[in-house]
Amino acid sequence: MFDVVIVGGGAAGFFAAIHIAEARPNVKIAILERGKQVLTKVKVSGGGRCNVTHAEFNPADLASNYPRGEKELLGPFHSFATGDTIGFFEKRGIPLKIEEDGRMFPTTDSSQTIIDCFTSEAERLGVKIFRVCTVTGFENITSAKGDYWQINTTKKTYKCKKLLVSTGSNPKIWDLLQGLGHTIVSPVPSLFTFNIQDERIKNIPGISTHAEVAVLDKIKSRRNTNSASQSEILSSEGPLLITHWGMSGPAILKLSAWGAQILDSYKYEFKIRVNWVPEYHPAGLLELFLKVKQVEKKTVLRTKVLDIPKRLWANLVRASGIDDTVTWPDVTKAQLQELTTQLTQGLFFVNGKSTFKEEFVTAGGVDLKEVNFKTFESKVLSNMYFAGEVLNIDAITGGFNFQNAWTGGFLAAQGIVNSFDNT
Ligand SMILES: Cc1cc2nc3c(=O)[nH]c(=O)nc-3n(C[C@H](O)[C@H](O)[C@H](O)COP(=O)(O)OP(=O)(O)OC[C@H]3O[C@@H](n4cnc5c(N)ncnc54)[C@H](O)[C@@H]3O)c2cc1C
Repeated sequence: MFDVVIVGGGAAGFFAAIHIAEARPNVKIAILERGKQVLTKVKVSGGGRCNVTHAEFNPADLASNYPRGEKELLGPFHSFATGDTIGFFEKRGIPLKIEEDGRMFPTTDSSQTIIDCFTSEAERLGVKIFRVCTVTGFENITSAKGDYWQINTTKKTYKCKKLLVSTGSNPKIWDLLQGLGHTIVSPVPSLFTFNIQDERIKNIPGISTHAEVAVLDKIKSRRNTNSASQSEILSSEGPLLITHWGMSGPAILKLSAWGAQILDSYKYEFKIRVNWVPEYHPAGLLELFLKVKQVEKKTVLRTKVLDIPKRLWANLVRASGIDDTVTWPDVTKAQLQELTTQLTQGLFFVNGKSTFKEEFVTAGGVDLKEVNFKTFESKVLSNMYFAGEVLNIDAITGGFNFQNAWTGGFLAAQGIVNSFDNT
C-alpha cells in the first residue's frame, strides 16, 4: 500500500513525485514505469539537449502557444511557469541558458543532466521506482477503512490512496480511463512537416526565408485554381524552411499544431497559399515591378529585386514563364503579374506529412472539461490526478510541451499534498 502511486516515469511523473516527496517526506510514493528505463523521451528530446522550457514569462503569452490547453493553462501558469522551472533546476545546480529564439536548455547541452537530476532527487527523497511494470488496469475500491485505488500491473497489484496518471500518449491507458467514465478526445498527430512535390521548391533544400502560409482547403481537384479567390482556414507567419520532402520551419510547424485535427480530417492532402514576401500586397508589388521595369536593363532572373533567397527567386521567375534571357525592358506586364502572384499567392499541394527532427506530440487525450485545473484532479473519479500529455494539451515546438508537464506535475503534487492535509 502506497500513499501515492504515479503511473508513468516520464517528465510529468517525476516532477510530481519530487514535489510531493519534498513537501511531505513521510508520504510513501511509487512510480510504475512500463519501460526498462525511465524518462526516455527526456533523453531524446531537443536533439539530445532537452529543450526544457521557453523564455516566455507572461502567463497569457505563454498559454497562447498551446493550441489545446490555452484557456485551461492560464490559471496554472500563474502558479507555476517558466520562472519557476528555471528556479527548480537552478536550485539543483543546473543553470539554463536562453537561445536566440527563446528556447531554453541546460548549459551542459545534455538531456542526461536533467535525467540525472530527476533520478538522484527521487532516490534522495525515497521515491520507489518500479521499472518494466506495465499498468493494465485501475479499480476504485470502497472499504470500511476508506476508498483506495487498486492498480493491476504485469508484475504485482499495488494499492494507493492517491493515483496520478502521467502516461503520456498511451492509447491503452486512454481506453482504461474511458472505461471508467472519462471522455477521451481522439488522438491525432501534431508537429509535423508538409510533403510537397513541386518544381518551384525542388533542388533548393536548406533554403529558409520569412513567409506567410495559409491552409486553404482539402484537395478536391488538382486544377491550378486561383488561390486568391479561396478562403483560408488557418494561417501563420514565420521562418519557412524548404526541405528535400517539402516545407518545414516554424511557419509550417505552427500550422501543423493549430490545424492538427482539421488536417487529419483532410488525410493530410490539402492546398496552401504561400506569400514569400509578406511585407507586400499584390498590388504594391506589381507597382514596384513596373517601376523597376522602367530603369533596369539586366535580365529579370539576375536582378533580385526583393529580399528573398536568390535560388528561390530564380525558381519563381521561371515558374512565371519568364525565360532566363528575358530582360526588364522585354518582360510583359502579364508576366510581371504572374510573378507577383507566384510571390504573394503561390498555390502548393500538400500530399502527406513527415516527422520534424523525430519530435512529435499527440493532440488529444483526457477531455479538459473533466479536470479541475486548480489541482489537476479528475472531476469524474475521486483521488485520481493527471499531468502531462495524457491530457488533451499540446503546444507548438520550443519547450512548451515540457512546460506543460512541469506545471501539471507541480499542481497535481500540490493538490495531492493539500488533500492529505485535509484528511
Ligand atoms: C523526439 C522527441 C523530442 C521532443 N523534444 C521536446 C523538447 O525538446 N521540448 C519539449 O518541450 N517537448 C519535447 N517533446 C515532447 C515531450 O517529450 C513530451 O511532451 C513530454 O515528454 C510529455 O511528458 P509526459 O510525462 O506527459 O509523458 P512521457 O514523457 O511520454 O512519459 C510517460 C511515461 O509513461 C510510461 N507509460 C505509458 N504507459 C504506461 C503503462 N501502461 N504503465 C506504466 N508506464 C507507462 C511511458 O513509458 C513513459 O515513460 C519531444 C517529443 C519527442 C517524441
